[in-house]
Amino acid sequence: MSDERRTRALEYSEMDLKAAIAEANRCLNCKSPPCKEGCPISNDIPEFIAALAVGDLGEARRVIARKSNLPAICGRVCAHELQCEGHCVLAKTGNPIRVGLLERTIADFAFEMALPLDKVPQKTRGRMAVIGSGPAGLTVAGDLAKQGFDVTVFEAMEEPGGVLLYGIPSFRLSKKITRREIMGIEMLGVQFQTGCMIGPDLTVDQLFERGFDAIFIGTGTAIANDLQLPGRELEGIMQSSYLLRMNYLHRSGQLDREEVPIHPGDMVLVIGGGNVGVDAARTAKGLGAASVTVVYNGAQETLPALHAEYEAAVEEGVHFRFECCATEFLGDQRLEALLVSTPQGEQKIPANKILLAVGAHPANRIVSTTEGISVDADGYVVIRERPYGMTTRKGVFAGGDVVHRPATVVLAMREAKKVAVGMAEYVDAVKLLALG
Ligand SMILES: Cc1cc2nc3c(=O)[nH]c(=O)nc-3n(C[C@H](O)[C@H](O)[C@H](O)COP(=O)(O)OP(=O)(O)OC[C@H]3O[C@@H](n4cnc5c(N)ncnc54)[C@H](O)[C@@H]3O)c2cc1C
Repeated sequence: MSDERRTRALEYSEMDLKAAIAEANRCLNCKSPPCKEGCPISNDIPEFIAALAVGDLGEARRVIARKSNLPAICGRVCAHELQCEGHCVLAKTGNPIRVGLLERTIADFAFEMALPLDKVPQKTRGRMAVIGSGPAGLTVAGDLAKQGFDVTVFEAMEEPGGVLLYGIPSFRLSKKITRREIMGIEMLGVQFQTGCMIGPDLTVDQLFERGFDAIFIGTGTAIANDLQLPGRELEGIMQSSYLLRMNYLHRSGQLDREEVPIHPGDMVLVIGGGNVGVDAARTAKGLGAASVTVVYNGAQETLPALHAEYEAAVEEGVHFRFECCATEFLGDQRLEALLVSTPQGEQKIPANKILLAVGAHPANRIVSTTEGISVDADGYVVIRERPYGMTTRKGVFAGGDVVHRPATVVLAMREAKKVAVGMAEYVDAVKLLALG
């Protein structure tokens, strides 16, 4: 299925309001709601469902906004089956409340109807710089703006959004939704400076010189891990993140189709079974590859990708090979096959393109240009508990994948929320001491 058709299918499968209200009325209003416990950011799920059940969408949106700046995104890409919906009492009957769908329905309705936002306090508490505009940076920025801080986000790319925009394909998360959520954060008074790479373009020290009271690093994991097996130099082996980026550029009219590295008829293998691998596999299929197989070294039950995404991939004709470990790339200049070890012994799988999806790690552009920020042996930024999220450099904080390793949108948000509290405490304390 082409990307366009998939995106349309996704948009048409949204729940209409009447159905959403009926779904909300199935909620049992549990006394100690397990759905809320299952949500990493403790969204007040029963409260927004109760408001929706009586048709009060303004209140439902207000309740959601207390905890989340990205509900239309979380409602689409979170692993609901493991979190809110998996914890719902009704999950035992096989029919949990469809919390994700309700959350995004409320968020979409609020945007489309331009429901007014709560008033934001005057920006009098201090100036904060946020580096990176993925879910971690956007969450810190939104939370700090709501607490009365003047926030500027510095983003290396031409447009904010991080992986939400450049990584997750639009057939799962349309760019329109990401742009809308960012607009919501702008409406809180957050300013964005794009095309500015902190490190080479502007250093952390220069940000302090410009008067920022504290700085948040939410730069994610920009460097894809390599898989150094014999034959790695063969033509036809590339990173999945490269394909996703090139496909995004093509779809947004910035690149010719020929430059997207998968062509009709290609025989594609993807190594790695996380969201990145499965997204790349579905993208390759959408680009007309003759065959696409995901090679994953674990058992099917341990596949890290979202279950819904796995099912969609299978439906679209992507094959999966479990307990299958890549050992050698075979070919003569150009890739011809992958040698794998399986419980049944060694096998050769023919392929002319291989997409690697075996994790990622942070770039060190900021730490290499800044004194005093410690990283661990793998390059992840070290933070402390009090104030939460502060690095070994005073006033510089960090959170999201650059600290906790590649995880999920909502886990980056959970950490970012705690760091925003730490940053506010720190700036308040510094200003208080300066008065004394
Ligand atoms: C293809 C793909 C699919 C995924 N699918 C899902 C999914 O379905 N569900 C889910 O929950 N999670 C998913 N994830 C994981 C999730 O997107 C990440 O865990 C999350 O985006 C991490 O957020 P972050 O803010 O820490 O980093 P990022 O989203 O990586 O954002 C970092 C930002 O910092 C910017 N930046 C980096 N260095 C600098 C610098 N020096 N100066 C200025 N800006 C800089 C980058 O350009 C980027 O915008 C997926 C990830 C990928 C790659």
